[in-house]
Amino acid sequence: MHQSRDANSAWSVAVPELPDVEGQRRSLTISLLGRTVLDVTVLDPRVLRNATQSEFEQRLIGCRFGPPARHGKWLILPTDRVTLLLHNGMTGRVYFLAAGALGSETTASPPGNRLIVRVEGGQLRFTDRRALGGVWIADHPGVDIVAITGLQGPDALGIPLGVFQTLLRGRRATVKSTLMDQSVIAGLGNMLSDEICWRARLHPSRAAASLSAEETQKLHRALRWTTRRASECGLIPRTPTWLSSARDKDPAACPRCKAGLRRSRIRGRTALWCPRCQPDNP
Ligand SMILES: [Zn+2]
Repeated sequence: MHQSRDANSAWSVAVPELPDVEGQRRSLTISLLGRTVLDVTVLDPRVLRNATQSEFEQRLIGCRFGPPARHGKWLILPTDRVTLLLHNGMTGRVYFLAAGALGSETTASPPGNRLIVRVEGGQLRFTDRRALGGVWIADHPGVDIVAITGLQGPDALGIPLGVFQTLLRGRRATVKSTLMDQSVIAGLGNMLSDEICWRARLHPSRAAASLSAEETQKLHRALRWTTRRASECGLIPRTPTWLSSARDKDPAACPRCKAGLRRSRIRGRTALWCPRCQPDNP
């Protein structure tokens, strides 16, 4: 296993992106919906971003979970009174552990666990090894959620072509930076943006505004296919037909044409791309 070369890149560690959060949302829709909060154990107070431990407990205990939602990389857990907003940061994960499965955990609070919300029949757990994610509590969905999440563009999953074309128009930033800008399109991170550029055969450093109508369509098709397929899996696949399969290799070969892949810095992030499939000046 390689050590992380770059804390911001997905080198060896998959940073959660839209598909991971979508997988969590689907799983919690089955396991958490309709359950009432019995008590809360805060193992690391830093995880609570806008409430003290006692405020958090007072507001959440007795609440009943509704259908989980997601926007971009944000997991939204509404209840009948308050809404929880969770961000996985670099290493976070939210999961439900049924009461019957609790015995399978080796300790009552495994390392990395930051928060345990005990509900009828099990526990909702937030684990985050690097503690860069967090949990927010909001009273009025739609009113104070944007103040917490910051401006979010439309969700990347299922974004229509017309909306995508409008979002890209006039943007001088690179294609990769634009795809990763949560205020433009919500949900894509380093790995997915590389995967999408590679599938569209577009160099990640091209200016978004320089794309032809045909190239924008190609990028949209790649975005749609990649986000859908990865969301079905609940993660970004590392199977041989995905660029992601080459991420941890050095030297790394393009899964499509076998040329040596390149890595370059684009606004502080490491882009992975193929010099043959993704020419700089087409
Ligand atoms: Zn290639």
